[in-house]
Amino acid sequence: MPTCKQCGEEVDELVTVKVDGKNKRLCESCAEEAASEDAVAEESEAVVQRMMDFKGRR
Ligand SMILES: [Zn+2]
Repeated sequence: MPTCKQCGEEVDELVTVKVDGKNKRLCESCAEEAASEDAVAEESEAVVQRMMDFKGRR
């Protein structure tokens, strides 16, 4: 049985998710969590980029 590196649970199947540009093998629930965290990180990065862009134009 494969073991999830995130929560340490043994699961039938691990899914590969990309977090911070790295592939991670996680169980389904951890993968979902990681995916939502990644979406939040991308969102805040976009905000920072907009701020930088705004400053650059002044
Ligand atoms: Zn897990």
